Amino acid sequence: MGLLDFLKRGPRKKQCARCGGQAAHGYSQMAESDPKQITPLCLTCLIKQLRIDYADFRGHAVVVAPATGLPCYVFREQRISSPLLEQVGICADCNAQARCLWVHSQGLTIDTFGDVLEKGPERTLLIWGNPSAKSLCGTCTATRIGSRLQAGDFEFFEICSPHDAQEGLVLPMAY
Ligand SMILES: [Zn+2]
Ligand SMILES: [Zn+2]
Repeated sequence: MGLLDFLKRGPRKKQCARCGGQAAHGYSQMAESDPKQITPLCLTCLIKQLRIDYADFRGHAVVVAPATGLPCYVFREQRISSPLLEQVGICADCNAQARCLWVHSQGLTIDTFGDVLEKGPERTLLIWGNPSAKSLCGTCTATRIGSRLQAGDFEFFEICSPHDAQEGLVLPMAY
């Protein structure tokens, strides 16, 4: 199923590949995967998978909170000079070593995500009235993503996590 079909029909007719429940999201290993490589998952199975991915993650990522109206929520590797990544310190929720920097997504829309990609969250989201970025360990990052997803009506065509020692940005976006 391609992105256009997804937008037309919605993903909810699909079955979760793990438990057979109703799948609301597509999970992949990396951004812009071939649609055949995108696995339909229900929210419960997706959250389990994200917890595994983020707990194993050994790099650094800026993670922007899920936002509605954007079909993808994916990690992109960036060879950035992001001053933000240098701020990753101790997890604000549990005091473990942090891996991620959590940024709220107020102001992020289909019209503005391009700016965020191009200029970075520090020159966009963080001057658009969002609270300052917070350092989080992988597990606490997955917990926050999970509670956001449970609280809203999200359907992501493609969602993927950072892996290994990658460095980059997780952003709700379209392509
Ligand atoms: Zn499931
Ligand atoms: Zn933590």
